[in-house]
Amino acid sequence: MSFDKINTALIHGGISIDERTGAVNIPIYQTSTYKQDGLGKMRGYEYTRTGNPTREALEALIAELEGGIAGFAFASGMAATTAVLSLFKTGDRILISSNVYGGTFRVLDKVFDHFGITYRISDTSDPDSFERDITEDVKAVIIESPANPLMTVTDIARISEISHRHGLTVIVDNTFMTPYLQQPLKLGADIVVHSATKYLGGHSDLVAGLAVVSTEEQRRKLAFIQNSTGGVLSPFDSFLLIRGIKTLSVRMDRHTENALAAAKFLSSHKGVKRVYYPGLDTDPGYAVNSRQARNGGAMISFELADGYDKSVFFESLQLIMLAESLGGVESLVCHPSTMTHASIPQDIRERVGITEGLIRLSVGIEDINDILTDLDKAIEKARQ
Ligand SMILES: *Cc1c(COP(=O)(O)O)cnc(C)c1O
Repeated sequence: MSFDKINTALIHGGISIDERTGAVNIPIYQTSTYKQDGLGKMRGYEYTRTGNPTREALEALIAELEGGIAGFAFASGMAATTAVLSLFKTGDRILISSNVYGGTFRVLDKVFDHFGITYRISDTSDPDSFERDITEDVKAVIIESPANPLMTVTDIARISEISHRHGLTVIVDNTFMTPYLQQPLKLGADIVVHSATKYLGGHSDLVAGLAVVSTEEQRRKLAFIQNSTGGVLSPFDSFLLIRGIKTLSVRMDRHTENALAAAKFLSSHKGVKRVYYPGLDTDPGYAVNSRQARNGGAMISFELADGYDKSVFFESLQLIMLAESLGGVESLVCHPSTMTHASIPQDIRERVGITEGLIRLSVGIEDINDILTDLDKAIEKARQ
């Protein structure tokens, strides 16, 4: 899927009409089971955990958008990541980017660890140091670029090339960018995962996860894991997600236009010490991000200057809401060290730069002047 073709594929990709009736939206096939015409005579479906036409339409759509051979829809982003991690076995080690999503860290640290699948944190933004971390037992790497919450950029093509030389599977969590802004499989990655709860759904009204694979073997194994472990997305949420994806391009254009304006505004504000946003040409990740993505996305992190109180800032916002999550049409702000990244131990948080003062902003699609005014007033009130 090339960037210029994606606008049409968002609306017509995958299975976009109902063959039986011609309905221009795939109906919600709200059924758990399907009548069989005789022993062994099924009409392609037997039980909704195994297959459902609404979920299948979504799975075909995300596979096409990411340029993979098959897609899988799950009840959450973490269910998608868990299914992908279930491809590995006791003794395997996974490298993870130094600031991955807190839940990805937690499931490795507290769940997969019980099964002898271990992890090591690696600085994937530095290819040489990443290559030094590859030991005999390392079988995969999980990358987020830009990575949550410091917006650290990883060169996906370079890391894929190094990884393949050592036989690793490259897994990219593309939640922050979506296939509209970045297509990891085209850059050499093997598997893409998404929290579709965020930009793909886009309206903060559902929780969903997606995975896209690039080989027949991965397709076969992940289909088996999806059916065996059962964390599938419901027909209704599959429908909602297809509906959200149709407007992805127009939403992302506004999100990213607003984000660039907000990042520039914050950078020049005397109450702000530091801004992390790979869409600014002063950001260390700008060059690599510009090569592999359409733009810098719509997630910004920043730190208030000394003498400004973050709690007062959060409480003074009128429009922008303090909440977990991101990627919806409304602007949201969060405090990573006590919210999204609280499950990462404090010493690791400090080592990777997730400080107490860090604020993460998911820039929505409201009027940009309203967003900037809200930020400005809250920063002014926060001055002690
Ligand atoms: C939210 C998020 C997840 C987890 O997804 P859920 O849908 O909440 O389970 C994984 N990765 C990233 C980057 C996220 O932002």
